[in-house]
Amino acid sequence: MGSRKSVPDLEPQKAERKGVIMAQKYLITCALPYANGPVHMGHIAGVYLPGDIFTRFLRLKGEECIFICGTDDHGVPITISADQEKSTPAAIVKKYHGMQEAAFKGLGIEFDMFSGTSTCKHHRELSQEFFLSLQKTGHIEPRITAQYYCTSCERFLPDRYVEGQCPFCGAEDARGDQCEACGNALDSLKDPKCKICGKRPEKRKTKHWFLRLDKYQDLILDWLNSKTNWKDNVRKFATEMLKKGLRARSITRDIDWGIPVPVEGAEGKVLYVWFDAPIGYISFTKELGDRRNDPDLWQMYWKGTGTKLVHFIGKDNIVFHAVIWPSMLMGQEGYILPDEIPAFEFLNFKGDKFSKSKKHALWAHDYLSLLPADLARYYLTVVAPETHDTNWTWETFVIRVNSELADVLGNFVNRTVTFARKNFGGAAPEADGRTLKPVLEKIRAAKEAMDSELSAFHFKAALAPLIELAREGNRIFDFEKPWETINASPASSGATVAACLEISAAIGTMIFPFMPESAGKIRRWLGLSEKPAPEDWKAVGSQMLKHGTKLAEPEILFAKVELAAIEAWEEKQKPQETPPPAEKGPLKVTFDAFRQIDLRIAQIMKVEEIKGADKLYRIEIDAGDGPRTIVAGLRLHYPDPASLVGRRIVVVANLEPAKIRGITSTAMLLAAEHGGKVRLLMPDGDLPPGSKVS
Ligand SMILES: [Zn+2]
Ligand SMILES: [Zn+2]
Repeated sequence: MGSRKSVPDLEPQKAERKGVIMAQKYLITCALPYANGPVHMGHIAGVYLPGDIFTRFLRLKGEECIFICGTDDHGVPITISADQEKSTPAAIVKKYHGMQEAAFKGLGIEFDMFSGTSTCKHHRELSQEFFLSLQKTGHIEPRITAQYYCTSCERFLPDRYVEGQCPFCGAEDARGDQCEACGNALDSLKDPKCKICGKRPEKRKTKHWFLRLDKYQDLILDWLNSKTNWKDNVRKFATEMLKKGLRARSITRDIDWGIPVPVEGAEGKVLYVWFDAPIGYISFTKELGDRRNDPDLWQMYWKGTGTKLVHFIGKDNIVFHAVIWPSMLMGQEGYILPDEIPAFEFLNFKGDKFSKSKKHALWAHDYLSLLPADLARYYLTVVAPETHDTNWTWETFVIRVNSELADVLGNFVNRTVTFARKNFGGAAPEADGRTLKPVLEKIRAAKEAMDSELSAFHFKAALAPLIELAREGNRIFDFEKPWETINASPASSGATVAACLEISAAIGTMIFPFMPESAGKIRRWLGLSEKPAPEDWKAVGSQMLKHGTKLAEPEILFAKVELAAIEAWEEKQKPQETPPPAEKGPLKVTFDAFRQIDLRIAQIMKVEEIKGADKLYRIEIDAGDGPRTIVAGLRLHYPDPASLVGRRIVVVANLEPAKIRGITSTAMLLAAEHGGKVRLLMPDGDLPPGSKVS
């Protein structure tokens, strides 16, 4: 096996403690979203939110890390969307890249780099370099294959351009490249149909380049076997594929949108989008280095030792990230391999899969027009599809938000800070060791639980102890009744409040990865920096608040949400019945309608400037029926008013009178315009005023 030498040493990975990550720095990526639609909450739940929480958590602990993502701009999904929207692939990419970036930002998902495979200046070169080095070592080779070809569209039909029945599971809507129902890669379909014209395509011979995955079978198997701490779904999916035996896979396509295949004889062919997309993780890192003026940054992360590479993906991407991508990396010189692939299952919406075509989705940008980001971040964490598919329903959303965020967490912090401000001169009262000690112990236990669960990618389990801590705070507040002891024993009341403020400070710091905006609010009220630093994380569990710290006036941390209001909003969101399209082309007027316009010859009798209107003239005309006044914008075009007097012109005599600059205009003169130049329409010859124009 020729590429054995280029495989990084597997020993350090084997030495890892189960579920606990130790490294010098982290490279965190999220699956690149196709730039052919907006992002919905299913995408957020399974990939981007966990990636963001994990990155924030590492930063909070003072770990060095970068968080990389961007749009997947190439491939058939984009060209099909361009066809459907009667647009170009580049325009489609630009539109949805912008929408996605805004949605991520709105949800507090903060990438260090959010680039795109068609816009990143490093991407083409690097993708071609990957291809060429694999070709050089004999891991890519050309083959003549039979591909679907539509004779009526006169083109090959790669991937999604052909649909039909899956030969493995019988699913009706399988695509040319893959069956979504059973996950099998396909190269033939039963009863194939051209996606563009619906006709049955034929198979034609064409040359394509194949990645010899079969040569990586043993290497990948060894490597996967070392990943004993990986999630079951990832290991299972990948090992199933290996059991069947890896097969060479075509990595080029007959379309014109993508990265050209860098070899002779491949004109008109591009790299398969799944070959170039993951390379985007590297090219975007290079771009981050450009932005930070640090050209070696990408090498430090991708080729250095001591980087943990973590790919956040959905389960539909397991095969690519756990088998194909590592093979591609093994075929290069000196690249690291993925350390963790925490793949999530799917989040459904109201019991059904999210579906763009069926308009069954909750789009991130729509959600953000209704509710704060942190509520979704919380709800998506407590219903995270970590080990099985889960479901977004507004009923459970309302229950979780109201009963846990509003009633427990929000209520606890709000009552504590409000009471302290009111009764202790707007500042934190003095703690006493006896009250504080057990509270700090509880905080430390919650912190440890959160730390170990998040390190193992158990997001739900990491958040639970923080809500439990707020519950404990409420219990202490209710039991000690500081509002009763305040008169008889202000010191004891103060000690209770100080302990509760300490819990608030700990929560305000620890919820930062999950709900950054709310964390910032709590910390600000407590006189702490909005964004917690690694020192703050370290301080959680020892006393964080000093006696006398000024407290800011709190607002309601989490307002309750109402199901009826959400449902009413949702009803309004539903696409309205669109009226039948209006007749195309310019407006047509019937002859009878035209005849109703009273066009006449008129003579200009008098022209005056209008004060304060440097474009208008007040013009008196004779239209055959006595003097009339019109206001016309001729001043710039005929600067000398005297030159107009006596001219015969054409006017509309039966126009509704209009008041312009206080002057009633009772007709309209006709003029022609070209390139900003305006000239009056004047009759040929000496017809008297009042002559009909027809
Ligand atoms: Zn199938
Ligand atoms: Zn066709």
